[in-house]
Amino acid sequence: MAFLELDVLNNAPKPVIGIDLGTTNSLAAVWVDGRPTVVRPDGMGAIVPSAFYFEKDGQVLVGHEARRRAMMDPGRALFSVKRFMGRGLADVAGDLASVPFEAREGEGGVVRFLVDGKELAPEQLSSFILRRVVEQASLVLGVRPDRAVITVPAYFDDTQRQATRDAARLAGLEVLRILNEPTAASLAYGLDRRKQGKVAVYDLGGGTFDVSILDIEDGVFRVLSTSGDTHLGGDDLDRALVQVALDELAPRLGDAASEPALLQALRLSAERCKIELSRAPQAEMHLVAPELDLDWRRTFSRAELEAAIAPLLERTLDACQRALADASLTVADVDEVVLVGGSTRVPAVRALVERFFGRTAHAELDPDEVVALGAAVQAHILAGGTREFLLLDVTPLSLGLETMGGAVAKVIHRNSPVPSQATEGFTTYADNQTGLVLNIVQGERELAADCRSLGRFELKGIPPMPAGMARIAVRFQLDADGILNVTAKEETSGVAASITVQPMHALGDEEVERMLADSYANAQADFDNRRIADLKVEMGTMLRATKAHLDGVRADLDRESLLDLEEACAAAQATIAAERPTAAETQKVRDTLERATLPLAALLMDRVAKEALSGKRVSDL
Ligand code: ADP
Ligand code: MG
Repeated sequence: MAFLELDVLNNAPKPVIGIDLGTTNSLAAVWVDGRPTVVRPDGMGAIVPSAFYFEKDGQVLVGHEARRRAMMDPGRALFSVKRFMGRGLADVAGDLASVPFEAREGEGGVVRFLVDGKELAPEQLSSFILRRVVEQASLVLGVRPDRAVITVPAYFDDTQRQATRDAARLAGLEVLRILNEPTAASLAYGLDRRKQGKVAVYDLGGGTFDVSILDIEDGVFRVLSTSGDTHLGGDDLDRALVQVALDELAPRLGDAASEPALLQALRLSAERCKIELSRAPQAEMHLVAPELDLDWRRTFSRAELEAAIAPLLERTLDACQRALADASLTVADVDEVVLVGGSTRVPAVRALVERFFGRTAHAELDPDEVVALGAAVQAHILAGGTREFLLLDVTPLSLGLETMGGAVAKVIHRNSPVPSQATEGFTTYADNQTGLVLNIVQGERELAADCRSLGRFELKGIPPMPAGMARIAVRFQLDADGILNVTAKEETSGVAASITVQPMHALGDEEVERMLADSYANAQADFDNRRIADLKVEMGTMLRATKAHLDGVRADLDRESLLDLEEACAAAQATIAAERPTAAETQKVRDTLERATLPLAALLMDRVAKEALSGKRVSDL
């Protein structure tokens, strides 16, 4: 069935990816098999360093490659582009000092880099990173995702957020949401399931430190305060080690100590040593420079690193204190602490934070992946899945009832966790209707005829009353074994009826797939059919109301209005009877009918008002 396969490919919605577009590192995650998963192509790491190297021939290298080349030739490299997103020259004067390219103010007053006579916007550069991230995702997913949730620091202003959106657009991505990084991290830990609480998110990345205090209320996050230091991060920890090294090496290096390439090499060695120390009690830093006849090695203990970085870490606590004060909270008010950022892997950092907040911090997930994972959770929610996916068993297809006119009212939606139950209210369509047939259907299509009927049952003995007065509660209960029990009960009289069917086990995976594919393929047609069915029902109601009241006021209605109304009623009747009217036609006929009934309605209102004034109660009419 090649055609069917083609259909599925073309119509299945592409996955929405979550992207952590970081100052130092970027990566993506996507929802797979019920949980967020970092996109990690075989043989590659997940992380794309947010680094650029500009070749003389105009080629731009991105990621690891750029980082490697930058080591040899820092003068043609660019890092931390995120700092410049949506900022003016004056905002980032300090950061520009370390950029080896000229910068000028471009359109809208935002920074542009001048590389070999070509202007490059930070948005453009970020789009290169996003493209690389998407390429990696495509390798893993087999399709190129074109929609994303992208994270930004909580303190990003509108211009910076817009710049992030623009970068995404340049990379061919539609942004479904810009998500705050601390919120993403909290989502990754499922903290949205808390009814309420306060979360402190401590994020120590490569070049920046942020702390955010969030408030959760019924799964909704609000940022109460943020604080931090945009120039404090893992790079500074590296520099602290470099400083120790330079103090010892200076006499042997002489003038070479200020050489950019040598410093860069020392920095990378320091970073490697620092990372190793997160795991091991000791690690080595080394520097080999044959031209200086230098082969320097030095073993660092964890304690030495901790001593070197202690003042830096102390500063992060000051920021935590400020954030709490800004939120008018104390450490005792904080319910959850979340660690984010590669630098929180340093054991001393984690210990410090836990001591400060007086509680264990969430560090079960990789701190440098947790933001991307949370973005994938949000992406999944926006793509239409539900959070409950995390519970393993879900209904693969929606369960519902056929309503008047052949439409489907979904009661338990696709992907709801099992067991599950839901109640919907229905009413009678005709006056004095004493019974109704309930057709239970399964599927995603909008019309009952296109879904699978699981069974029918009757609810009888409804006391005679005007249309729309009966209160029928229909309860769907789906148990853990996939058995569906449907009960219908008329509330005023208490009459009830029920049926038990077994929907889940009758459908194979293949059939589920086919039905899903079918519903995607037919989404537009279904939408139209559904609309037509609804419009027909609406017209039916209008026709009946007209018929019920027209005779009483016919004499008072002017001739033209009467003719209009009769004509509109005839058209409506014809459309209701028609096999396949278009949605547009049906809408037009319905609108005409509504307009034509206005004079009648006005007359009736008028009469009601008069009767009321003459002492009759409105309800008597
Ligand atoms: P950003 O959010 O700024 O893009 P990340 O969260 O990816 O950055 O953090 C990058 C920083 O984390 C770098 O300074 C890197 O050296 C540091 N880092 C990564 N792994 C470790 C580790 N195991 N121990 C200590 N620091 C680490
Ligand atoms: Mg980060």
